[in-house]
Amino acid sequence: MSDWKPSILVVDDENTFRSAVLDLLQDVGFVCAAADSGEAALDCLAKQHYNIVFTDLRMPGIDGLALLREIKKIDESIIVVFITSHTSIDSTIEALRLGAYDYLIKPLEDIELILAMIHRITDKILLEAEKKSLLKNLQEKNRDLDESRQKIIQYSVDISALYTAEKEMLSGLDLEEVYQRSVAHISRLVGFKPALLWVFDKSRTKLVLKSHCRLGNLDEKSLSLEFPQVISRVSGDLKQALISKVTQGTALFHPVQGHQPFYGVLSILNLKRRPFSRRQKEMMTRFSFSVAVAIENAQLYHEVKTLGTRDALTGLFNRRHFEDIFKSELLRGARHHHPVSLIFFDVDYFKKYNDAHGHLMGDVVLRKLAELVQSRVRDTDIVCRYSGEEFIIVLPYTTKLDAKQLAEDIRQSVAAYKFPYGEQQPDGAVTISFGISESPLDGIGSEIVVKSADDALYRAKEMGRNCVC
Ligand code: GH3
Ligand code: MG
Ligand code: MG
Repeated sequence: MSDWKPSILVVDDENTFRSAVLDLLQDVGFVCAAADSGEAALDCLAKQHYNIVFTDLRMPGIDGLALLREIKKIDESIIVVFITSHTSIDSTIEALRLGAYDYLIKPLEDIELILAMIHRITDKILLEAEKKSLLKNLQEKNRDLDESRQKIIQYSVDISALYTAEKEMLSGLDLEEVYQRSVAHISRLVGFKPALLWVFDKSRTKLVLKSHCRLGNLDEKSLSLEFPQVISRVSGDLKQALISKVTQGTALFHPVQGHQPFYGVLSILNLKRRPFSRRQKEMMTRFSFSVAVAIENAQLYHEVKTLGTRDALTGLFNRRHFEDIFKSELLRGARHHHPVSLIFFDVDYFKKYNDAHGHLMGDVVLRKLAELVQSRVRDTDIVCRYSGEEFIIVLPYTTKLDAKQLAEDIRQSVAAYKFPYGEQQPDGAVTISFGISESPLDGIGSEIVVKSADDALYRAKEMGRNCVC
């Protein structure tokens, strides 16, 4: 920039003077031009930009002052220097007032004077340019700073929204509630978009839609997915399969994965087909993790809770739980005047089985037996392991007659099932005996009803086992 030279226009109606100045400037290496009138000068300026205009004050037609006014209208930054005589000092003062940079007195005796002035002007132009560029730079920096500030504000708003959502998620210990809250929160966090949550079933080959919100007219029944093999992570194929289900708009999918297991997939939709912003993606990443942790917590809580009510070997309800629920079922039955039946059953010759094949094999039989029984009862019936190889089924809204039918059905399916070494049992198969009682028919109060079923079971054993009494 230091070699830079300004372009100069010399305006004077006096030919000899004009040519002399032009020659002088060209000799020193300036790019310059000359005009013999104010009109000609404006023509030149219309065609090309000049940094400096040296102009005579008195000219026919457009004089120096009028030219100055026009030039300032064209470009405020063009430097105008007047070349004047001693006689027109008043006009010169007026010119300075109107924005002229300086003046030179004719005749120009000292050439160095004009060159020194041009150097001064050059410095001024360069300084102005530098100032302008610095200012532009500063404005850009300010804009960047402002953007960063906005981002920080947005970020802190996001963080606090996320924190609130996460806190609420983690306070829920009911799995269904966790599912519902997940979609409600992520929808709100990303700007009230439709949200869906798929969770794997036990086999991990089916993603079941567990909760959703703001789906509009999307058919939720068609939104579950089955896979031929166990899925352990969100792969391209899985995403593709999910996308094909959600045909409206664009979709963002994120694995719901905590410290270890991959529970399912959280998704948000943009029905307007717009791409998702970086902010929305970050929200998804962070919140999906919280969903996984909340699911983990709820599952743990459920496990701990069932530990107290379930039997570890068979997974059936334990005796303590039986006593609680049986009492309340009896009260309910009494209040609504409906019968409650009990089926008490016991494995025949089980001591023999254990002695012959070992306790561990005996456990296998008990587990399978529990499974068989559980699969044959209604959802409202409650199967419990009473003790050792004794089991009890609570049947609300059921008469003894219906209970007998169910017991008979269970008896036959157990006798028909091929337990390991079952053929070596005294009856040629693992069999069970049943005793049945009904409340209020056989008595009121849990102990009496249990005793009544136990007595019936004793009679079944007496009658030769593998029967219902
Ligand atoms: P019955 O036909 O009269 O019922 O004869 P039983 O041999 O089945 O009756 P008994 O009461 O004499 O024996 C019950 C056996 O059940 C003895 C015990 O070792 C076994 N048992 C109790 N609990 C468990 C268990 O958790 N696992 C195994 N493998 N065996 C058990
Ligand atoms: Mg027994
Ligand atoms: Mg027995």
